[in-house]
Amino acid sequence: MDRPATRTVACPSCKGPSVYAESNRWRPFCSERCRSVDLGAWASERFRVPAETPPGDDDAVRSEH
Ligand SMILES: [Zn+2]
Repeated sequence: MDRPATRTVACPSCKGPSVYAESNRWRPFCSERCRSVDLGAWASERFRVPAETPPGDDDAVRSEH
């Protein structure tokens, strides 16, 4: 049994099979949609992390909430 030329990984977004090869420009995601969904979630996660906020902006962000 020949080793497959391409390997698949679980798409981080939909957990479906994603071709991890140069032919898949969205790797490790299975599609552009999954990549943008995941990046959007990651960006909003990051936005909520206080450590990622510069000290000078911290009070301004808190006062808005
Ligand atoms: Zn996916």
